[in-house]
Amino acid sequence: MKYLSTRGGVEPVGFAEAVMMGLATDGGLLVPESLPRVSAEQLQAWSRLGFQDLACAVMQPFVGEDLSAAELKDLVARSYANFDHPEITPLAQAGERRILELFHGPTAAFKDVALQLLGNLFEHFLARGGERLNIIGATSGDTGSAAIAGVRGKPRIQIFILHPKGRVSPVQERQMTTVLDDNVHNLAVKGTFDDAQRIVKALFSDLDFKRRYRLGAVNSINWARILAQTVYYFYAWGQLSAGDISRRVSFSVPTGNFGDVFAGYLAKRMGLPIERLILATNRNDILTRFVHHGLYSLTQVHHTLSPAMDIQVASNFERYLYYLLDQDADAVSNRVAAMQRDGRIEFSKTEHRRAAEDFAANAVSDADTLEQMRETYRETGYLLCPHTAVGVRAAAAWPDAVCLATAHPAKFNEAVQEAIGMDAPAPACLQGLLEKEERCEEVAADLNAVRDQLKATLETTQ
Ligand SMILES: *Cc1c(COP(=O)(O)O)cnc(C)c1O
Repeated sequence: MKYLSTRGGVEPVGFAEAVMMGLATDGGLLVPESLPRVSAEQLQAWSRLGFQDLACAVMQPFVGEDLSAAELKDLVARSYANFDHPEITPLAQAGERRILELFHGPTAAFKDVALQLLGNLFEHFLARGGERLNIIGATSGDTGSAAIAGVRGKPRIQIFILHPKGRVSPVQERQMTTVLDDNVHNLAVKGTFDDAQRIVKALFSDLDFKRRYRLGAVNSINWARILAQTVYYFYAWGQLSAGDISRRVSFSVPTGNFGDVFAGYLAKRMGLPIERLILATNRNDILTRFVHHGLYSLTQVHHTLSPAMDIQVASNFERYLYYLLDQDADAVSNRVAAMQRDGRIEFSKTEHRRAAEDFAANAVSDADTLEQMRETYRETGYLLCPHTAVGVRAAAAWPDAVCLATAHPAKFNEAVQEAIGMDAPAPACLQGLLEKEERCEEVAADLNAVRDQLKATLETTQ
């Protein structure tokens, strides 16, 4: 399998190179040159597989020659070994509502499903080439801890995560700073998340520095993350249908960067019998407005109770654009240029109609998010995290839709307190965090200060 850029400016690359490249070198996103079609017989057989075997079956055609079946099996086994549920992504039930629990990984959020695998893929491909990688990222919460959990203890990787000092929740901060592996470096920036992100962007645009210190990223546009996330759509369908291919299933997906819901779209294009994909956004509703009105236009970011979805420019949207525009890279480039010029992309009637066939969409306010958490808890005893509650609320008109649960509620105790007036019971990975030993360096919100700190650390580790 070869991968191309959505903007057409990259010679086809294999899976390993696509994973190591992350963002395509022409600024586009990497997509497979063709999608494997899954047959009815395959779907029936796959419905009997456990999560790990299914993951290997779904991913093998995308991996091509770059991993043998035995290597893939080993990487998958190691990636899901420290999930706290034997089914990895079990289906639960809240009253009549089906909930696909994606939070059984080491940091209790769905990003673990992809980042545990990505960390192992990085280490594997680096070892093969005798190389090393230094990952740098800024986080306002969930991604930082999941990225650290994905690469901790890997000898060929150092990871530096910048977070705004005192501005992430105590649990999220401790999930990062209590990881004491030598290759993990937490930097508390004395400034805002925007400062931290600006510094990381500036480091990446210093091409000399980037090359000399082999900088890499773990952002949500890595193809391997999308691929890992398609697996649970197949898994949930198999559990519900028991292989009956006339059974169609709908999914409601809390959406920020469009990664998770794009994985569902991909599964559908591969032939999984998905009835409807419901795109659930909070007050940051650029994607909902796109589906409703055929106009993708930027506004300002609002802070909500579901912070992992407080996003305006959805970084994976360009992958969907590529398929919506019939895989025409020139057309994608033109639309992206329009976005950069005007802050908006307009779509024709036909394009809009197709998008509205591909997705239903709903935006959910904070008040309705809290109301949904309260209502579900009162009626069923099941506690939703605020992101998951957005998805459940958005699917109100589709009681049969499976709702993806993207985080454990104990990660968002303030919202839980506000909704039901008590704490969510914490899973083992979140217990005792406040008593554990921490390691973290403070640094000024200044590019040179951060760069000096990185250099000093890397000089001692390489
Ligand atoms: C990242 C995240 C999301 C959004 O996922 P995308 O792939 O960015 O759409 C939703 N909920 C939680 C808890 C997250 O961490």
